[in-house]
Amino acid sequence: MDQEISYGSDYKFIPATSIASGIGIEVLPDLYSHTIQIVNICLVGNPETKNFVLVDAGMPESANEIISVTEDRFGANSRPQAIILTHGHFDHVGAIIELVKHWNVPVYAHELEFPFLTGKISYPEPDPTVEGGLVAKMSPMFPNEPINLGNHIQSLPSDGSVPHLSGYRWIHTPGHSPGHVSLFRDQDRSLIAGDAFITVKQDSLYKVLTQEMEVNGPPRYLTTDWQAAWESVRKLEALQPTTAVTGHGMPLSGEMLANGLKKLVNDFEQIAIPDYGKYVNKNKH
Ligand SMILES: [Zn+2]
Ligand SMILES: [Zn+2]
Repeated sequence: MDQEISYGSDYKFIPATSIASGIGIEVLPDLYSHTIQIVNICLVGNPETKNFVLVDAGMPESANEIISVTEDRFGANSRPQAIILTHGHFDHVGAIIELVKHWNVPVYAHELEFPFLTGKISYPEPDPTVEGGLVAKMSPMFPNEPINLGNHIQSLPSDGSVPHLSGYRWIHTPGHSPGHVSLFRDQDRSLIAGDAFITVKQDSLYKVLTQEMEVNGPPRYLTTDWQAAWESVRKLEALQPTTAVTGHGMPLSGEMLANGLKKLVNDFEQIAIPDYGKYVNKNKH
C-alpha cells in the first residue's frame, strides 16, 4: 500500500543561484555531478551498464531538470535503482517527492535522519544571526519542515554497505545534521561528502555566485553541532580521499583537496565555526 507522500508546507522555489547552475561534470567515468542552482546532485554508476543511483535530490521545483539530466546520461526513460540521501535538508530533498512518484524507487538514509523524512520533526530554524553574511540572512526563507516519504524511505544497512552501489560504504558524519552520511569508495578513495565539508564559502553570497573554491566547513546557518561536525571532518580527512564531490561548490581532487582538508581539520575553529550564532558555543571544549 502506498502512503501519501508530501513536502513540508513551507517548501517553495528559492531564488538563489550560482555560475555553476545547470552544469554537469564527469568527475570519474562512473561519477557525475550536476549543479542545481547552488547544490549538487550525483549520478553514480557507469552509463554503459545502466545500473546507477542518484545521490541527493536537489532544490525545490528541480525534478524536471534532474530527470532530463538523468536521461541525457543514461538514456530515455532510464531511472536509478535507488536514491541515497546524505541528509534531509530542503536543498537535498527539494525534488524528491516528484522523483519518487515518477520513478517509483526506494530512498535510503541514515536512521537518525528519519524524523525529518517521515513528517515527525522539523529541522531547527536556520540561524539568520550567525556570523556569515547575506546567505545566512536569507536563510529564514529556507524550508525546515519535515517532508514525508512514508514507506518509500529505508534505512541504510548497518553493515556500512550502500544499496545498489557496490564498492562504496557509508560513513556517519553528523554535526551538520544528526543522520548526515558521506559515501566513500576504498578502491579509488573517491568521496561523496554531502555537506560534511564543502568547497565554497557558503556564507558569502559572492563566493556562492562565483563558486570560488576553498575547502570549508558545513553551511553555517543550518549546522547545529559544531564539535560533531569537526569530528566528522577529521574522520573524512583520515581516509585521505583523492577526489571529493561535495553538496556545494566544485569537485576537488589531488593536492588541493588533501591540503584543504588538512587545513580545515587543523584550523576548524577559525575556518568553520562562526564567531557567534545561536548554535555556537566556542567554550565547550
Ligand atoms: Zn545541509
Ligand atoms: Zn546543502
